[in-house]
Amino acid sequence: MDLWPENYETSWTLSKPVERQGVGLHSGKEALVRLAPSEEAGFYLSWLDSRDSPVKLDPKYARDSQLCTTLEVGSRRLATVEHLFAAIAGCGISHIHIQVSGEEVPLLDGSSIGWVEAIREAGLVPSSTPRSKPLRLVSPLVYYRGNSVITATPSEDFNLVGLIDFPQKAIGKQIMSITINPETFVREIAPARTFGFREQIEQLKESGLIQGGTLDNALVCDGDQWLNPPLRFPDEPIRHKLLDLMGDLALVGFPKAQILVYRGSHGLHTGLAKELFKACSKNFS
Ligand SMILES: [Zn+2]
Repeated sequence: MDLWPENYETSWTLSKPVERQGVGLHSGKEALVRLAPSEEAGFYLSWLDSRDSPVKLDPKYARDSQLCTTLEVGSRRLATVEHLFAAIAGCGISHIHIQVSGEEVPLLDGSSIGWVEAIREAGLVPSSTPRSKPLRLVSPLVYYRGNSVITATPSEDFNLVGLIDFPQKAIGKQIMSITINPETFVREIAPARTFGFREQIEQLKESGLIQGGTLDNALVCDGDQWLNPPLRFPDEPIRHKLLDLMGDLALVGFPKAQILVYRGSHGLHTGLAKELFKACSKNFS
């Protein structure tokens, strides 16, 4: 491999452990995440303060909480996993042990690039056991909530098409269509930061959310302008939406499908992930 695997078909793990720590977006609390090599296919999670054996993650642990995706494993929760999971799966890692101290994954700069850098620092090595087979859809799936919709149709590649339409002029209508592989993910999607709206900040803070949000880890939109430019891409918001979608699909594995999402949200993504998991586990047997 040059720097990243060519596709999502071969098995890769880290060559050594790597750690990052920082503040969670919603809790504002410090946490530490240690990413370690694993010989077992899948994503395993354990807590650094516990001797319990690691749990193999699948979509049934994902909860769509307000503004982020939270894992609920036994009596413990881990919030805001999506940017970390997008980085792990997006870079092509199929085998990993995630060890955590804290309740919310550090936000870093609001994108996945800090996690991609951590993975690059550790390096990838082929793993000795095969990854789970990519999900193959046999017929289209549709999942909707209100006027938001997400569809998955069979395809030879993993294609994403995202559309957003915001009344704020700084964002407006954005559309992006991309074939995802580790290289396109790292270049086109991973650097895109999370975004929010100036008029919602106070209310979210008062309700106990975004306690760790600052102008350094989230783009803030104020009608027809951004409070903290420059953007990394003119269409950074739709790229970040696709990043969130990848994070929410990471636990089912990226399907051989074209996924089209209109006005996506974590609830919509995790809903589709569960439908995909159900549809495709039927095909496995
Ligand atoms: Zn996000």
